[in-house]
Amino acid sequence: MTIKAQSAKLIADIKAMATEPFKLMEVCGSHTVAIAKSGIRELLPPNIRLVSGPGCPVCVTDNSDIDRFLSLAQQPGLIIATFGDMIRVPGTVTNLQNIRAGGADVRVVYSTLDALEIARQNPEKQVVFLGIGFETTIPTVAVSVEIAARENLSNYSVLAMHKLVPPVLEVLVMDPELGIDAFINPGHVCSVLGTEPFEFIAKQYGKPSVIAGFEPLDILQTIWMLLKQRTEGRSEVEIEYTRVVKTAGNPKAREYMDKYFTVVDARWRGIGVIPQSGLKLRPEYSQFDAEAKFTLPQPVETNIPGCQCGDILKGRLLPPDCALFGKACTPLQPIGPCMVSSEGSCAAFYRYRGRSYNA
Ligand code: SF4
Repeated sequence: MTIKAQSAKLIADIKAMATEPFKLMEVCGSHTVAIAKSGIRELLPPNIRLVSGPGCPVCVTDNSDIDRFLSLAQQPGLIIATFGDMIRVPGTVTNLQNIRAGGADVRVVYSTLDALEIARQNPEKQVVFLGIGFETTIPTVAVSVEIAARENLSNYSVLAMHKLVPPVLEVLVMDPELGIDAFINPGHVCSVLGTEPFEFIAKQYGKPSVIAGFEPLDILQTIWMLLKQRTEGRSEVEIEYTRVVKTAGNPKAREYMDKYFTVVDARWRGIGVIPQSGLKLRPEYSQFDAEAKFTLPQPVETNIPGCQCGDILKGRLLPPDCALFGKACTPLQPIGPCMVSSEGSCAAFYRYRGRSYNA
């Protein structure tokens, strides 16, 4: 059967099974983009509502954390190494791009290995890597600390703002106001964690979840599997993305995370502090911990006026529900992180569905 024929059959089956309202949440920026790009949302029957959750690592980074690293970037003798998505993310008054224009040394890197190389080439300066991301990227940051320790690179450190996916899912699944019926679990994160950390969704809350791949057919298949669980009265964690995700995940990657990081409370944009939902470097690696090496301001809670990113990250709203979407806020002149990041919901909606998209 061709892909087109398989897609048509899945859509027909989904329509036949969608007898009641069903609210699904995806929690991965790559899924957000894939759904917007392929137009899957528009192909589904109206009683299936697809919402985006906190799956974009840039978007979930709280304003207070952004203000803290913006303050760090202005300290003399320091190089900030960051993934490109962070450059235009606004804090309360500015962003890294403006600070760089004012003379700060801010460099875009494609991996932690690039950041290590900058540290090797600039021994007279301190290099701080901005650690943003979920379980997918955390092992690579752990490896960078291992390399820095092995090479005695005393001018390299990490500002760890990493987040863990299962704790935020628990906050969302237990919130009756959000009314999420099922989850499209993040394929990349699950390739590291495996299925066990997601079992609570079914066991404690009786909701189906399926670990999905990133092709449009993967996502349609996942929606079909979720509907099938509901139709059959089952709640399980199933794997659709079997070509990559194994039940046990990647134990070696988790070993690296556990060796270098310890679990701490973390603040999420629009959600607040979630206990045990972030990571920081273990005390024995404090010489590579930017929090321990430099003076940072205390976190101060601030909001971007008018920006609804917090409610979008909780699946309460879709981007066009924000009054600023496509008007004051566009990818060229973004107001909030959900429009800055290429994986943000607002950017994906705008890019693929247009400024006048009617949710
Ligand atoms: S459209 Fe812009 S202002 Fe509105 S929620 Fe998205 S990022 Fe925030």
